[in-house]
Amino acid sequence: MKRKVLLIYTGGTIGMEKDYGTGSLKPFNFENIFSKIPEIQLLECEVRVQPFDQPLDSSDMGPKEWQRIAKYIGDNYELYDGFLILHGTDTMAYTASALSFMLKGLRKPVILTGSQLPIGDLRTDAKENFLTGLNYASLYEADQAVVQEVAIYFEYKLLRGSRTLKHSAEYFDAYLSPNYPILGQSGVHLHFTKEALYRAPKDQPFEVDYHMSPSVLFWRVFPGMSMAHLRALPNVKVLILQVYGSGTISNSEHTERILQKLRDQGTEVVVVSQCVSGAISFGKYENSSVFTKIGAISGTDMTAESAITKAMHLMDNPRYRESFAENFPKSFCGEVSEN
Ligand code: ASP
Repeated sequence: MKRKVLLIYTGGTIGMEKDYGTGSLKPFNFENIFSKIPEIQLLECEVRVQPFDQPLDSSDMGPKEWQRIAKYIGDNYELYDGFLILHGTDTMAYTASALSFMLKGLRKPVILTGSQLPIGDLRTDAKENFLTGLNYASLYEADQAVVQEVAIYFEYKLLRGSRTLKHSAEYFDAYLSPNYPILGQSGVHLHFTKEALYRAPKDQPFEVDYHMSPSVLFWRVFPGMSMAHLRALPNVKVLILQVYGSGTISNSEHTERILQKLRDQGTEVVVVSQCVSGAISFGKYENSSVFTKIGAISGTDMTAESAITKAMHLMDNPRYRESFAENFPKSFCGEVSEN
């Protein structure tokens, strides 16, 4: 049976070709993708292209564009078996995380991919990423989609979207999922770690929740940073502090006073780590005690990308009766390891 895939093209290097005259990169008309990759015809799927009107560098993407992608998926959910999103690599992990929170009760694959080199380049990684991404987006077993979550496929690996970060601007192997196993790997065959695949609760129907609050700020602390910068943040409802190791920060009364003031004015403080792998653990060191004192929320082993988009999705979201502080530590789509 031929599976139907909606291909959402947003922009990025994957949709560019080199002008060999000038040496610069320019977007090509994406409707012509089938002539660039004739191998698509060999796959057991039917593809319809839904391009953005204007291809975007992914640094120009944000909540509006995430909502647009979510709407394409929501409006076409019943009509297609899977969704492949072609995206610039720079912010793909943010889009993947945001979509993971917006698309609730997902039972079909939503795969994001892109490339480090344009599709027309001799050494391009675009073709493999694209074709295998399409493969994963149309893979069914016994009439059930194998992947039922938002994932990134890149350089032979399938990773949970909400666990992913871009770690290299140079190598083809650009993404990591440091705190969660790889969902799948493509070799001669497409492999899966079946027990790692996410399954939405049985009673959760598919639904798109577009909510994204703009009142989130992310701040990386560094040795010698003046905490006074954090004194006046009037419109910030969630401050995500990226601190050291398993959750430490310079231990001073001044730090505590400033953070307590933010808490008193109603700002939620979420703590994530500057380490790529491992987790926040309040109480492990004396220098994390301030977070317990002020009632900060641990981001545990979430990526920064996931913590940011989760905070945007949860803050002021009328769907939830529980408070932000109650909800944030919970797993909504397998983005965090629960104790
Ligand atoms: N700057 C590009 C983007 O993220 C890089 C890429 O596509 O790889 O849109």
